[in-house]
Amino acid sequence: MTLLRPRSAPEALEAFEKNPGALPLAGGTDVMVLWNMGLLNGKSVVDLSRIGEWRGIKAGKDGVRVGSLVTHTELQRHPVIRREFPLLAQACALIGAIAIQNRGTIGGNIANASPAADTFPPLAVYEAVVHAASSRGRRALPFLDVFAGPKKTHLRPGELIEAVEIPYARPRPARAYFRKVGTRAAQALSKTVAAGLLWLSRDKTVAESRFALGSVAPTIRRARKAEDYLRGRKLTAESVGRAMELVGAEIAPIDDVRSTAAYRFAVSKNLFKEFLTCRPR
Ligand SMILES: Cc1cc2nc3c(=O)[nH]c(=O)nc-3n(C[C@H](O)[C@H](O)[C@H](O)COP(=O)(O)OP(=O)(O)OC[C@H]3O[C@@H](n4cnc5c(N)ncnc54)[C@H](O)[C@@H]3O)c2cc1C
Repeated sequence: MTLLRPRSAPEALEAFEKNPGALPLAGGTDVMVLWNMGLLNGKSVVDLSRIGEWRGIKAGKDGVRVGSLVTHTELQRHPVIRREFPLLAQACALIGAIAIQNRGTIGGNIANASPAADTFPPLAVYEAVVHAASSRGRRALPFLDVFAGPKKTHLRPGELIEAVEIPYARPRPARAYFRKVGTRAAQALSKTVAAGLLWLSRDKTVAESRFALGSVAPTIRRARKAEDYLRGRKLTAESVGRAMELVGAEIAPIDDVRSTAAYRFAVSKNLFKEFLTCRPR
């Protein structure tokens, strides 16, 4: 294995231009698993950890820009993230355990593209935008457009995640919901993970709802049909029941080592109901 250690973003982009097929390394919590399995033999690895430009959280007028090297610990402790994006802070606090949170980065979590990634439902409902760069230029991708399948992204060869931009949710939602369902409280990948935001009109009809589920399809899913159905309706037993059916029709869970498809179907619908009927926070 050859290890390259660029000191700046331009140097990193150049390293990928010169070494097509090189593997980016951020916190290493996913990459080191590959190393242990001997899958990096003969590979070039580019360590991104010295790139100062990709660190830090900058709060602006309309939202925050989170550098791709920001760790889960930094996210969950940052006052603006806690105030404006509590669902993301909650998700980061439930990733792996403290050592993983200290090393694992948001950019690595996104690029790894696990359907069970815990930051994905919050980033989906906050409608984050991922900023990518390569030696050929920069582009911005709506969060959901990044993912092509389990562990597959639409990032092009040599393209790296620089930052994630998250717009403030305005007006502030009446409800914000996050729930991770796993075998244990720590060191457990999600059987199902969900996040939701709800806005109500003065007459208590739904102005807007956003609900996203992880670990129930090849990529993160927004429950668009249920969201559309609820717009302009009151939350009654009938409307919530119909919306739950629509959520069930939008997911495609599988049996795997962590859970069964049947369990994931049932839990996903129940999480959606809990989101719609839970007390405002
Ligand atoms: C014991 C354990 C428990 C875990 N528990 C959880 C959990 O509960 N929830 C969860 O969501 N995840 C979990 N993970 C997965 C992992 O910790 C996260 O995905 C983490 O955020 C990865 O970040 P990293 O910086 O360590 O990525 P790395 O391991 O450095 O990289 C991950 C992938 O992303 C690529 N990459 C990294 N940075 C960039 C970039 N800037 N641009 C483009 N590509 C990039 C790498 O090439 C690699 O393919 C766990 C992992 C372990 C080992």
